[in-house]
Amino acid sequence: MMALKKTEENRFCRLCEIFSELPENVTDYADRLYRLFPARERAEEPLMKERLKVCEGCEKCNSGTCLACGCYTIIRVMKTDTRCPDKKW
Ligand code: SF4
Repeated sequence: MMALKKTEENRFCRLCEIFSELPENVTDYADRLYRLFPARERAEEPLMKERLKVCEGCEKCNSGTCLACGCYTIIRVMKTDTRCPDKKW
């Protein structure tokens, strides 16, 4: 099967693309992904942990996916300018 060329005309899910190459060590992978964001956009670790703690106790968190927005919570908490769609953080 011929691979599709990934362009804006031939749209694809970037997150699925990222996770399709997910290595065994998810923590290392998340760390690498975090460092791809410009430093000014990265949330500090205490803030990320605080947010993740809220997500872990949230009824809309399903195996690390937020059912309110469809994001992976570990990715959603990484940026300074993101917000919880339910205003929990
Ligand atoms: S982002 Fe908000 S709504 Fe989604 S799982 Fe986290 S706390 Fe729940």
